[in-house]
Amino acid sequence: MGGAGVESAVSPPESTAQDSFFSMTDVFLISLIAGLFTYWFFFRKKKEEIPDLPKIQTVSSPARDSSFIEKMKKTGRNIVVFYGSQTGTAEEFANRLSKDAHRYGLRGMAADPEEYDLSDLSRLSEIDKSLAVFCMATYGEGDPTDNAQDFYDWLQEADADLSGLRFAVFGLGNKTYEHFNAMGKYVDKRLEELGAQRIFELGLGDDDGNLEEDFITWREQFWPAVCEHFGVEATGEESSIRQYELVVHTDVNMNKVYTGEMGRLKSYENQKPPFDAKNPFLAVVTENRKLNEGGERHLMHLELDISNSKIRYESGDHVAVYPANDASLVNQFGEILGTDLDTVMSLNNLDEESNKKHPFPCPTSYRTALTYYLDITNPPRTNVLYELAQYATDTGEQEQLRKMASSTAEGKALYLSWVVEARRNILAILQDMPSLHPPIDHLCELLPRLQARYYSIASSSKVHPNSIHICAVTVEYETKTGRLNKGVATNWLKNKVPNENGRNSLVPMYVRKSQFRLPFKPSTPVIMIGPGTGIAPFIGFIQERAWLKEQGKEVGETVLYYGCRREQEDYLYRQELARFKQEGVLTQLNVAFSRDQAEKVYVQHLIKKNKEHIWKLVNDGNAHIYVCGDARNMARDVQNTFYEIVAEYGNMNQSQAVDYVKKLMTKGRYSLDVWS
Ligand code: NDP
Repeated sequence: MGGAGVESAVSPPESTAQDSFFSMTDVFLISLIAGLFTYWFFFRKKKEEIPDLPKIQTVSSPARDSSFIEKMKKTGRNIVVFYGSQTGTAEEFANRLSKDAHRYGLRGMAADPEEYDLSDLSRLSEIDKSLAVFCMATYGEGDPTDNAQDFYDWLQEADADLSGLRFAVFGLGNKTYEHFNAMGKYVDKRLEELGAQRIFELGLGDDDGNLEEDFITWREQFWPAVCEHFGVEATGEESSIRQYELVVHTDVNMNKVYTGEMGRLKSYENQKPPFDAKNPFLAVVTENRKLNEGGERHLMHLELDISNSKIRYESGDHVAVYPANDASLVNQFGEILGTDLDTVMSLNNLDEESNKKHPFPCPTSYRTALTYYLDITNPPRTNVLYELAQYATDTGEQEQLRKMASSTAEGKALYLSWVVEARRNILAILQDMPSLHPPIDHLCELLPRLQARYYSIASSSKVHPNSIHICAVTVEYETKTGRLNKGVATNWLKNKVPNENGRNSLVPMYVRKSQFRLPFKPSTPVIMIGPGTGIAPFIGFIQERAWLKEQGKEVGETVLYYGCRREQEDYLYRQELARFKQEGVLTQLNVAFSRDQAEKVYVQHLIKKNKEHIWKLVNDGNAHIYVCGDARNMARDVQNTFYEIVAEYGNMNQSQAVDYVKKLMTKGRYSLDVWS
């Protein structure tokens, strides 16, 4: 019926056209031919005037080659080190391994799996002494990192024959998470299943312990295994090789200089969707209020305006925020190194074949690099210490740096105590080693990239489609050396107040999808457990359930277990929660105040008190359970409490109860959004 209506609507002009000499189609065709002729007449000459058009085309848009094999052949590489990296650490490790290859007369290449066709792995044996190494980080609840997602999908589906492929895997994970190093383990197992030959055992790095030490320990055994396999030997001393060349721009058009953008130049002045990690949206801060009423800490609620950004989010997603380093820390670099931070420069990759032309957007100033692009507050890794050692003029300091970078037991212990445990960042090292004066450009080459920080969104898009809310606590602590270390992002956010001196406070952000989702049916009961800032996603969940209720939907039981230190101190969103309870959206509000009495009271203690009801909701009501907050202790203790409840009420032994909870997890009925 609709079709007929459309036809009748267009028929009158058509019938008019039929009466005239030319039909509308003819007029259009004649105009088109005339237009093309005019274009050809005027522009054919110009085309002839361009002498070397093909050359210009190659320069401006180089053909992207997705075959890493061809690239390796062309550039004489034998070892390819793929990285599945979310925060840049796996990428750093891959770069270090690929640099190492040089020492054994081999040539390495670090590669982002997203940029290449991994089905080419079956052809790697065409290259002499070839080896594929995988530095694979596990993200969230056992997931691959974004850049390894396609590779992971391919591995799952592939029935490729990888016999002839030699490989080794180093996984990066965190033991406080349920699926420790799931990605590293999977890649290692799956490559073997597809016929590839493992030449060295899987390494499992633990970021909850000492990831750097795990890596160097693995690496120091990995290379001898490579040597034995290929019959090669180390060619000599480890040497410092610069990857980038410094170019100082004295006469530069300032419009071409990066001022903190993540991808496209001027993207902060000329914002264009879609917004993502390479193209963040500059959100205006419309609210920033302190949530706690007492105590030393600063807990805050921020609202970011996303109107006109086309950004969509769901309750449970994460918002990524790009922070900036504290200006006073940046200035201290300039003072210690005696450099003019406003010098405009580029660091250009000496390897012209590399896809990565610069370590961060260039040209830029040192000040911008140290403010927006480089991580200056985390303790540096051992390779940074190794490279810096050459610039210490005092032999004692030089020796100490070399020792900490070595893989000897003494060196590892010194690195652990002097750098990791003392939380010495690069600035503290420069201060505590007065003879150490590295050139600032080499330092900028060595420091890792400043990463976006993720927060669980504390709002529902149904209620707040144009804003994203954040709940966070400012991180601040005193180190063993007596220094005050401040969390980069939370302290930066703290100062982002709306309308500061008539100017908007802006936060570069984008949204990252998560699996932490309310049940499909609103009538399904939910049990939410989120002490501290773990309350964040549940504010969004409860808002959404309230909205559903308003729409006339039948909304199931909505149970919250929240915990804080003291009722009068850090009871976050107290009024909001009381209102939700009063309106009947929140059917149960259980709050554990841990420090208001002599003995600790935690969320799991309150859960235990209500165990019968919990079991009924889970077993009879198909409730979904959500846990958010501290991964190290709370999430584990809460999970153990569920094992106990399931064992008791389900008449199961411990291992059956564990299986029961694990099944809930696989079915998406026990979800975690935890951090450590
Ligand atoms: P809080 O430190 O305010 O803790 C919230 C409540 O949880 C307190 O009452 C605390 O009790 C209690 N608690 C402590 N241990 C347990 C446990 N094993 N089981 C149940 N409850 C427990 O929380 P925050 O939100 O400030 O931080 C939570 C965790 O998240 C911290 O451990 C922190 O390391 C981590 N984290 C937080 C970040 C953030 O921005 N919020 C960033 C990175 C990490 P009590 O303290 O009295 O023992």
